[in-house]
Amino acid sequence: MLLAASLGLTLLPSEAGAFCRSRTCRGAECTRDADGCPVDGLPLYWPTGCVGFSFQKDLSGKLDPDLTRTVLRRAFLSWTQLPCPTGTASLTFSENDDTACNASGYDDKGPNVNVILFRDDDFPYRDEDNTLAKTTVTFDSKTGAILDADIEINSAFNEVTLTNNRVVYDLESIMAHEVGHFIGIAHTPVPEATMYASYETGQTSLRSLDQDDIDAVCAIYPPEREVKCDPTPKGGQQVCGAEAEEADEGCVLGRGRPSLLTAVMLCAAALALAGRKARRDTRRTC
Ligand SMILES: [Zn+2]
Repeated sequence: MLLAASLGLTLLPSEAGAFCRSRTCRGAECTRDADGCPVDGLPLYWPTGCVGFSFQKDLSGKLDPDLTRTVLRRAFLSWTQLPCPTGTASLTFSENDDTACNASGYDDKGPNVNVILFRDDDFPYRDEDNTLAKTTVTFDSKTGAILDADIEINSAFNEVTLTNNRVVYDLESIMAHEVGHFIGIAHTPVPEATMYASYETGQTSLRSLDQDDIDAVCAIYPPEREVKCDPTPKGGQQVCGAEAEEADEGCVLGRGRPSLLTAVMLCAAALALAGRKARRDTRRTC
């Protein structure tokens, strides 16, 4: 199913954005500019015009499944049909079949799946009670092309909510932020933006993109980009018979045997926050 949204199409001249793009440099090794944007290496991007994703079939046992799907889809939709100065950004998403795969990862021999999954029982990464979600992006370090991206939602340590009735940790906000990482955007210094690194209890404002977020998409996926729509994951769609590898802990790692062509970036943008003491009611989105 191709996802497309119709948003208000007001063309605004884009100013020099403060947004940050994810790049091929790794975490703490990245030199950063005055805005905190990494500047080393190549910027990341999806080489297709429509990026495929799959929901892990079980979703969260703590949430209504139909409403969960609706909310997750809305978060992807919020990043499509975005107005750029020269037209509409060249980025859409395609929902592929659900998958049984319950781990993030990338196999350079394929098949693969860009999976959206909930971790209801554990969140096996550092700072598990202060992190709402994690997006893992695998890319070709020679070009910056994204090969695979997976989003894991930390429903084990956080009360994730779906509606406006009682908002605790708003799934649509969390996902909107993670989809930004999924498409190659790093944390921005603009506090109003969806790609700002922290989230306060009850907040729903991340559901709607800020101009800074839109400027990032227009920079990465300009209207004039000539690309085909190919939502098939690298190496074909993974159905998941074999267990995927477990990721090691840490924010930067290689998977399986080291490859010069690929590298894995795990919440590298979150490193900007690593030295700060988080407020009690603030969670990191990474
Ligand atoms: Zn983040």
